[in-house]
Amino acid sequence: MVTFGAAHLYVSQSDKGELVMGGDIDGYNSFAQRGNLPVIEHVAACLLALLPQFSRLRNLRSWGGDANVIRPLAPEDTDDGAWIDYLYLRDNAKGGHDELWQHIFGCRRWLHVRRDVVSHEIIGCSELTEGKP
Ligand SMILES: [Zn+2]
Repeated sequence: MVTFGAAHLYVSQSDKGELVMGGDIDGYNSFAQRGNLPVIEHVAACLLALLPQFSRLRNLRSWGGDANVIRPLAPEDTDDGAWIDYLYLRDNAKGGHDELWQHIFGCRRWLHVRRDVVSHEIIGCSELTEGKP
């Protein structure tokens, strides 16, 4: 793992050899549950400042958030407590977790991925139209 604290960047290598990177927080409130483009660009620029040989890397997949969160169906009838639950509160339990991921470099499709959040093992994967694995 490489960290670069002045720029809030981390990079680690997965068991399969892929690089996992992240850093910084969004500059404004976003309900997208993933880094927005300015943050992703900033993190990538910081990585290249530290390790210019990474300029040929391609972003294969991007995390898209918790797949179990469901937006209230009738926003006008939803009370503040339900909005707080939807926007901010997560169970954060160990073990299998349903997530959304997008193939960034390639088909750009969204996928359901069930991943062990402790070991990072991929338990299952399916197209959004197929439901959760
Ligand atoms: Zn794909």
